[in-house]
Amino acid sequence: MTDYSLVFTGVFSAMLVLGLLAKFYLASRQIRHVARHRGAVPAAFANTISLEAHQKAADYTIAKARFGMLEMAFGAAVLLGWTLLGGIDALNQALAGSSLGAYGTLLPQLALLAAFGLVSGVLDLPFTLYSTFRIEERFGFNKMTFKLWLADLVKSTLVGLVIGLPIVALILWLMGSAGSLWWLWAWGAWMGFNLLVLVLYPTVIAPMFNKFKPLEDEALKARVTALMQRCGFAAKGLFVMDGSKRSAHANAYFTGFGAAKRVVFYDTLLKQLSPGEVDAVLAHELGHFKHKHIIKRIVSMFAMSLAGFALLGWLSSQVWFYTGLGVRPNLNGANDALALLLFLLVVPLFSFFISPLFAQFSRKHEFEADAYAVAQTDGRDLQSALLKLYQDNASTLTPDPVFVKFYYSHPPASERLGRMTPSLESATT
Ligand SMILES: [Zn+2]
Repeated sequence: MTDYSLVFTGVFSAMLVLGLLAKFYLASRQIRHVARHRGAVPAAFANTISLEAHQKAADYTIAKARFGMLEMAFGAAVLLGWTLLGGIDALNQALAGSSLGAYGTLLPQLALLAAFGLVSGVLDLPFTLYSTFRIEERFGFNKMTFKLWLADLVKSTLVGLVIGLPIVALILWLMGSAGSLWWLWAWGAWMGFNLLVLVLYPTVIAPMFNKFKPLEDEALKARVTALMQRCGFAAKGLFVMDGSKRSAHANAYFTGFGAAKRVVFYDTLLKQLSPGEVDAVLAHELGHFKHKHIIKRIVSMFAMSLAGFALLGWLSSQVWFYTGLGVRPNLNGANDALALLLFLLVVPLFSFFISPLFAQFSRKHEFEADAYAVAQTDGRDLQSALLKLYQDNASTLTPDPVFVKFYYSHPPASERLGRMTPSLESATT
């Protein structure tokens, strides 16, 4: 056993170092690439984007990438602290020796996860604070007061506890009492929970943080309703959200399925776009539904979690999985919470290297939604809307191509607009 434990410690450490090196390499590529192209607006955008806007986007991108590197280094140190340096082990031993054990095995395990969550949350706070009140503030994006930020923090912690504790308790219970195939049951429970959240998020959770109103502008509403009917959608699923309460960033998104299906526009987006451009952005979002991107995402998530639970089912019964990560398993109590926690900490080290695959799928979906929008509305509207969005969000026009492959869920402006132009030409000929 000791041998496997040492091997696993080695694999874990190697992945931690490799991942950190890869992330630093990618971030420094992005910083260098953006800085090198800061001096001039790319030729394709010379008539539409000012030098000032281009340089603001460069500075914003670089500031975020630099801060991201600090966060990564800190994250790796914290992970090491929790595992090999004994953080989780100490927490676990303290809880095992406490009086909680008198109430069965579930309570000490929930306490372990809650304590871990609390400490991690507190360690993250300085980073969220700095990112919101320094970086976003400096570039004029932050609209939050400290009071609103604090209220958000309290609310999201409570919501997380109310919906998170029952599902975690259910999974721990299944791990302890559903026999050797517990992971299959736990997977079923987790899937049910995810579907529930998909319905609850747009209808119950998001409205706790923002106001959602049906579109009010009559002329725009008539236009948008006509488009939705043309594409076969019920118009009741279109909402405007007061995003300006927190940030000047503009956005639109689609979410949910069945009766909870909806498209959400930020008020910041409506303020910046002409009616034709709003139509084009909406058509893009409807394109995501037409191409069944939500269902595809859900199915791939189901498949990956099944693999994950099966792996956890095996790992949780291997002593080296605990000892290799610096944790002594409990001899008398249950180890399910420990296994779950260690698994969730270790998996990202491996999944990082397949993340380009998922980013690739996401970018493919964006191209499909763009093509749908160009077919349904005036393609020039989508082009100008995208340009405004990239500019208002200070997204760089010159990202590093390798960085894009790894991280970008949306293709860079040049690629999206480049793909649209040929179809525009063929539409007129
Ligand atoms: Zn999209």
